[in-house]
Amino acid sequence: MAAEEETEVRSSLRKEIERLVEAGNLRGLLDKAGELHGHLCNYLSYGVIAGYVAVRELGVRSTGMEKVIAIVETNNCFSDGIQMVTGCSFGNNALIYRDFGKTAVTVAKRDGTAIRIALDPDFEDSRDKEYPEASELWNRIVARREKATPEEQRRMMKLFAKMSMNELAKPVDKIFRIKRTKITMPKYAPVYASVRCSICGENVMETKARVKDGKPVCIDCAEGAHYVLDGSGISGKGARQASML
Ligand SMILES: [Zn+2]
Ligand SMILES: [Zn+2]
Repeated sequence: MAAEEETEVRSSLRKEIERLVEAGNLRGLLDKAGELHGHLCNYLSYGVIAGYVAVRELGVRSTGMEKVIAIVETNNCFSDGIQMVTGCSFGNNALIYRDFGKTAVTVAKRDGTAIRIALDPDFEDSRDKEYPEASELWNRIVARREKATPEEQRRMMKLFAKMSMNELAKPVDKIFRIKRTKITMPKYAPVYASVRCSICGENVMETKARVKDGKPVCIDCAEGAHYVLDGSGISGKGARQASML
């Protein structure tokens, strides 16, 4: 593909987000992140702001080809803001997940130049005080999963949307601890061949296939041990997990 043509294709795909980054339009970026996340909340805002600071500071734009990577340390709402603004996603292998349970991200360029942005603990702890009603509703409805009326649900979503917008105006150095750093870049994601599972007939990445009666089978059909990333983070699942993981 000719260089010029390639540039045209690239810029057309994330043009809107790049334009918002260029203009410093955090509110616009939050709305874009909301398209992915489904609701507006303060942690989504923190992800949007962190993503914005990182791409501005590093002067990068993502083409979804691992030239820029984001290493996130949490799978809470923050990471959706990061994915949308940096363009480093679960599906393009530019999002790397470290299961630390910390609201933090390191964004890096291929040469290892990086920036780590972590939520400031004092700032985080002060949120309940600043937003007591939202906090009370969240604790009751989300954290404790107690029954709520539709009106209370709506009220909570509204307060969180409002909070998400308020937070955009906070000074960045109050919200985060920001550190320039240098990292060893991970290799580009390898490409593996597929093999056909002899039981379900679906193709499976060959490094993930198991062997049963001398034939390749997928982990699901083998009822094999595997890792799962869910709301609790990464954990091992399956019958033989102790010996295989
Ligand atoms: Zn959220
Ligand atoms: Zn199978």
